[in-house]
Amino acid sequence: MRILQGIAVSPGVAIGEAVVIDNQGYRIPHRFISRSAIDTELERLAKAFVSVGRQIENSRDEISEELGEQYGAIFSAHLQMLRDPKIESDIVHLIKQRHYSAEYSVSQVLSKYIKVFENLSNVYMRERANDVRDIERRLINTLLGNRREALSNLETPVVILAHNLTPSETANLDREKVLGFVTEVGGPGGHTAIVAEALEIPAVVGTGQFLSDVTVGDLIIIDGDQGRVIVQPDDETILRYQHEVEEHRSLATRLEALSGLPAETTDKQHIALYANIEFPHEAEACVRRGAEGIGLYRTEFLYLGQDEEPSEEDHYRVYSQVVKDMEGAPVVIRTLDLGADKLLGENPEDPEQNPFLGLRSIRLSLRNIPLFRTQLRAILRASVLGEIHVMFPLVSTLQELRQAKMLLSDIMEDLEEEGVPFDRGIKIGMMVEVPSSVIMLEQFAKEVDFISIGTNDLVQYTLAVDRSNKEVAGLYNNSDPAVLRLIEMSISKATAAGIKVTLCGQMGGNPIYAMLLIGLGLRSLSITPSAIPEVKKVCRSVSIAQCEEIASRVREMENAREIKQFLREELRKVVPELLL
Ligand code: PEP
Ligand code: MG
Repeated sequence: MRILQGIAVSPGVAIGEAVVIDNQGYRIPHRFISRSAIDTELERLAKAFVSVGRQIENSRDEISEELGEQYGAIFSAHLQMLRDPKIESDIVHLIKQRHYSAEYSVSQVLSKYIKVFENLSNVYMRERANDVRDIERRLINTLLGNRREALSNLETPVVILAHNLTPSETANLDREKVLGFVTEVGGPGGHTAIVAEALEIPAVVGTGQFLSDVTVGDLIIIDGDQGRVIVQPDDETILRYQHEVEEHRSLATRLEALSGLPAETTDKQHIALYANIEFPHEAEACVRRGAEGIGLYRTEFLYLGQDEEPSEEDHYRVYSQVVKDMEGAPVVIRTLDLGADKLLGENPEDPEQNPFLGLRSIRLSLRNIPLFRTQLRAILRASVLGEIHVMFPLVSTLQELRQAKMLLSDIMEDLEEEGVPFDRGIKIGMMVEVPSSVIMLEQFAKEVDFISIGTNDLVQYTLAVDRSNKEVAGLYNNSDPAVLRLIEMSISKATAAGIKVTLCGQMGGNPIYAMLLIGLGLRSLSITPSAIPEVKKVCRSVSIAQCEEIASRVREMENAREIKQFLREELRKVVPELLL
């Protein structure tokens, strides 16, 4: 049994066998085969050698034709290496003597060659390591099929252990088959984490390197509440976690009973609970969990995981579906927040040095007006189907907001000329997720109908901590007093200006913050649908006066750890069952 500590990003417990993806994105193969499978394994290996030989010949012929023989010669060298009898016989030896699988034997033997080349002093010879790596990849790929297949064609329920998963890979995970996942990298506020929560898959990120010590089929427990990963657990640990799974289930059943009841404090103050979604099919769960509407629809997920840019009709279709599924409840459509960890048209040749400070979100949309226009037209067209509001992300200057609004009104004129109906009074909002927008909120408030505080980014930009970097995860803290002050400033400035204020960052869905946020004056939250029952339970268990008392105590505190500890204790006093 081995226990690893990572960052808990999506709650719950998963127990299952591992599928392992290495840091190049390849599935790490099964290590052992049975004695009776040796002949089959040798046959698979021989076939893979023939097939890879053919692939390399094809590459050689194509490149020779396009660029000339001298370039084709690179592949002739690969062929020579592949056909070196020593390589194949070393691999065969491992299969026969150690009962390793073909893939595992290939990776063992060729990794050894790669290391030898990498350690040579001659630069030219050192680069040959890449040639061997190429052959290794081709052989393993041929033996396994490619990685996406590994993730999408899973036959039995498994847990995924990977170096990294992008938000779109996470979004494409098969919820029926993936019980949970663990990544070596990643931070608490990354979009991979957010998607995991939306999919309700227990997840731990940022464990650091461990993949070389696990193998496919190892039994794994993922503790998405404590950020723990247990490799090959003993019987006692398995029993303990099975019991925990049961407790989670029974709490969920008890909370389900609240779904028809209002989110109201004991002194009858209504707290509006909206839901955050990434995919249109989530709308159904929002209604089931009693959300009053959708407070944040992250539309950029329409772009992720597909090669073609969505058309206006594609946008229109999903927005119409969401509005229809929400049965008349309001839907806040946030315009594209691409860039940073959700890349579009990523240029691997010239990556940005600081993508979170770079061409992201509204900046990227304003640089790609046709792309932005396509989305805004679809939002406006869908606005006659129900109550749709439009919201701009990551606004950091007034000019940006004005430019976006100008484009919106241009499109309104176009639609009017075309005789296409739309809601002229559509509510326009912005996210407050950069300190500059909090500081300038009096001005912004004159130009928008509502704001939504995006704490995931506000934390990162206030504390200068990359939200998806495990190395600084300890500094990424929702309960930091500087962040809390900015949240309070946003709430009071918006309230004074008479515009609606919601908070839609992940912290809103964590029950420990509910009382504090209400005490700071917030009356509207937009959270992951699965968090609604717990947060509602907190709202129904406290009075505004109690929450205000908590807020005034917190105002006196100076560090995040103390604040978090205090909030946890206060929650324990009110609804202890939420702190399982
Ligand atoms: C936020 O930043 O808090 C937010 C809700 O937006 P996202 O997580 O998509 O950046
Ligand atoms: Mg954000």
